[in-house]
Amino acid sequence: MASATDSRYGQKESSDQNFDYMFKILIIGNSSVGKTSFLFRYADDSFTPAFVSTVGIDFKVKTIYRNDKRIKLQIWDTAGQERYRTITTAYYRGAMGFILMYDITNEESFNAVQDWSTQIKTYSWDNAQVLLVGNKCDMEDDRVVSSERGRQLADHLGFEFFEASAKDNINVKQTFERLVDVICEKMSESLDTADPAVTGAKQGPQLTDQQAPPHQDCAC
Ligand code: GDP
Ligand code: MG
Repeated sequence: MASATDSRYGQKESSDQNFDYMFKILIIGNSSVGKTSFLFRYADDSFTPAFVSTVGIDFKVKTIYRNDKRIKLQIWDTAGQERYRTITTAYYRGAMGFILMYDITNEESFNAVQDWSTQIKTYSWDNAQVLLVGNKCDMEDDRVVSSERGRQLADHLGFEFFEASAKDNINVKQTFERLVDVICEKMSESLDTADPAVTGAKQGPQLTDQQAPPHQDCAC
């Protein structure tokens, strides 16, 4: 289960020609909010209505082009441990980005966001970036958490916010791409101010200062 690079910092990989950076991303949140479905939708473009037990699944890999770079995403799914809301600290190690998910039809999952956020802050790297995602926005009739409350909580926690649907494929790709962009922005900022002798990034990744995609909320 060791990652190809244990860097906490998306180290440039020269040994593998197939990508410039690798980012470890974690999807976190209460059980049954749709984390596994969200990952399957993004990585395989598939959706299974039946509850899929996550046991045995560690991560999926997807390589994307962003900012002129080939970025390999190693996206981790929790193997059922989220039921106990205590995930091993090893799981958080080296993660550069988090998708913190709740279900817009489940108040309890929304109330747990604060706890998950505390876990991230406690166990992860300080510069890890977090996006708050309200999933299942296709189920408007069953909605119990308004978009406004989601947005307010995200603002309060300092995260960006999306509503999404793994089922109807709404804002799934956008969520991952935005997360990659904020990680790149952060990395670029840090490298600008870092001492190259310390970081070993002599040439520094010349990430282009591309405009982020417009913020998209759920259209359903
Ligand atoms: P996890 O425990 O967070 O990994 O959640 P799962 O991905 O296993 O999903 C739990 C249940 O919610 C399953 O029955 C999924 O089919 C369903 N589900 C997941 N995402 C969505 C969604 O966007 N919309 C709807 N309507 N159902 C979803
Ligand atoms: Mg799961």
